[in-house]
Amino acid sequence: MSTPAITTPAVPLPGHPVLLSGLDVLERGPGEIQIGLDPRHGVVITGLPGTLVDRLRRLDGRQTADAILLAESEHREQLRTVLTQLTALGLVTEAEPASHSPRRGVETGLWSLRARHHQTALTERRRTSAMAVLGDGRLAVAVAVLLANAGIGHLDIRMSGTVTEQDLGSGFTETELGMPRRSALADVVRRADPRTRTTRLTCRRGPELVLLTDAVVPAPEVVDELMTAGTPHLPVRVRDGTGIVGPLVVPGRTSCLRCADLHRTDLEPCWPRIASQLAGRDQHPDLGAVQCTAALAVAQAMRLLSPSETPPPVWNATLEIDAFDGKVRRRTWVPHPRCPCGAVAVRQPA
Ligand SMILES: [Zn+2]
Repeated sequence: MSTPAITTPAVPLPGHPVLLSGLDVLERGPGEIQIGLDPRHGVVITGLPGTLVDRLRRLDGRQTADAILLAESEHREQLRTVLTQLTALGLVTEAEPASHSPRRGVETGLWSLRARHHQTALTERRRTSAMAVLGDGRLAVAVAVLLANAGIGHLDIRMSGTVTEQDLGSGFTETELGMPRRSALADVVRRADPRTRTTRLTCRRGPELVLLTDAVVPAPEVVDELMTAGTPHLPVRVRDGTGIVGPLVVPGRTSCLRCADLHRTDLEPCWPRIASQLAGRDQHPDLGAVQCTAALAVAQAMRLLSPSETPPPVWNATLEIDAFDGKVRRRTWVPHPRCPCGAVAVRQPA
């Protein structure tokens, strides 16, 4: 926890400043407040008159910055400085426009702080993004609902078959039993956020990411198609109770699923025979594993929309989450020298 740099940065104040949702303003002593709890982004501000502490507490986005400053006569310049510093640190942001709809805003939460990405830009980035979810089980449902709640504007749901009792629990209810899975999931997604579009994406507007859910080994023909089209994809599955997310495949840049197959075959020569039996086949994971795996996968998908100097943890790697043991293990899958995807020749980030 630290006091922010005192030099006032040259950032404009938001029109309607609001504290980032999820942050607490806590009094530590006379004239001293703490905003946020996490040492990575929380700050302590000292030397504040009582009126400024109250004004910071009441920063709810309903007043304009001008009105807030105008109401404070004695310590106006100090308030301007503190607000400017908090804005530069990402702790104060622009309030969402008031809406007549009872819907809440996009769930970007404190991502803007972690991703060092302005919240308004982050929300807009998610709203204009399109992703596809391809899978027939509970993971597809959980992932799609989380993506809708995260504010992804367009979800292409690629589910087949009809809803069975085995599908219930991660978003489907008995009401959807017997319905085609695709339209049933579109209904569930619209209940999560009516603004989410669920029409099929076309060749002109492809998905930025396809989440390949449920199948322990994704169907080779699906993977081939994605590689040919150059579409990034992220496998999300539960194998014998352990959730596995990744590797994130960016064709030609990262290791691909064929790279992983070649590594496995190097270690276990009968892997191709096992993989061919598993291809496209779903397991029926318990809901605890489904939910923690889906949450991890969607967080990694959101990393794609928050450009950073550090690649996401699923770059050339899988994350394996074991809710029983409470462990997340990262396993590296480097490009394979015999794979035709070409990633082996690409310089990888450190
Ligand atoms: Zn490859």
